[in-house]
Amino acid sequence: MVADEDLWRYFAPDYVTARQRFLDASEKVNVEPTTLTLSVRGPSEENLSIDVVYLGPEKPNRLIIHTSGVHGVEGFPGSAVQVRLLERWAAGELKVPDDTGLIIAHAINPYGFAWLRRVNENNADLNRNFLPPGEEYVGEPEKYHELDDLLNPRTYNKPFDFFRIKSAFVILKMGFNVAKQTIAEGQYERPKALQFGGSELYEGPRKWVGYLEKILPSVDRVVWIDFHTGLGPFGVDSLLISGDDSEEELSRLKSHYGDTVQPNDPDAGVAYRIRGGMMNGVSSGWPEIDWTMITQEFGTVKPLQVIKSLRAENRMTHWSAIEERKKANSKERKHLVEVFSPSSDKWRSMIMFRGQELVDQAIDDLGKLSPEV
Ligand SMILES: [Zn+2]
Repeated sequence: MVADEDLWRYFAPDYVTARQRFLDASEKVNVEPTTLTLSVRGPSEENLSIDVVYLGPEKPNRLIIHTSGVHGVEGFPGSAVQVRLLERWAAGELKVPDDTGLIIAHAINPYGFAWLRRVNENNADLNRNFLPPGEEYVGEPEKYHELDDLLNPRTYNKPFDFFRIKSAFVILKMGFNVAKQTIAEGQYERPKALQFGGSELYEGPRKWVGYLEKILPSVDRVVWIDFHTGLGPFGVDSLLISGDDSEEELSRLKSHYGDTVQPNDPDAGVAYRIRGGMMNGVSSGWPEIDWTMITQEFGTVKPLQVIKSLRAENRMTHWSAIEERKKANSKERKHLVEVFSPSSDKWRSMIMFRGQELVDQAIDDLGKLSPEV
């Protein structure tokens, strides 16, 4: 358990500090992290990188993967959980069997983390950027064009906006689940609009996939936890299952991980189906591996508030005259951070507790399905 007065040590004020704490913690476990540096820079000209710590044997049979910051700003709490994981490893409180490896990958989208955006340097949502082989970077949800004007206004300063009223009408007309699905699925046609999935697999994702390709050949079974925030009740995590979400598999997962396990079905819970999800994209290249893929999604504020904040931030980014570096200091970006990483001790300690517990459960799950442990 992390005491309230210690939370500040884990929740960093910016990307550079978060990264430094992660590197310091990896020193305590005597591991040299692999640094995958991007060609873009942060707002203070700092280097931006995905930093990966690997703990375990050279050729693991089984693997736990923990990823954070796929959505930039969600890296604040994700990094906090990962620094704590490394501390627990150093203290001998976190252990895996001899044939199991643990990958902790810090800030899959370091650009968004540093610039306080959810998307990357191409305005792309990286959890829509990993289309499986053969799928083209084109298309959008059937009704996206009906929402385009509402979600993506093409001016910055307008005295009256009425977003809430207009969105209430849309939700009434379209139905909440259809609207949710349409907004969240991912689109590949409008590069300045919300939920853009990109026009190719971008640099960060390419380097991350390249890293995984070196370690996956010996692996039979993976449990992958991808840490996110911004969906569901305040401080409570939903476990959204990618890949095999058959009744049988879901009931097995529920009995092990608890009742917050949900399929990625827009009518069944808080979730929605997406295109180009990271875990689906990676796993589709390795069909011989048995994958359990869990998106751990911690709730913050209500869905409409989340969309409103994303919309305002995207609008400021593309349609204001604010100088690039000053955008990182804008009220819209600061608000976005608060929406995805609330500065509440209560929220933070809930995240720290469940963030650790799920990794313990994953290690246990991986062990159960293997006879030699
Ligand atoms: Zn997310």
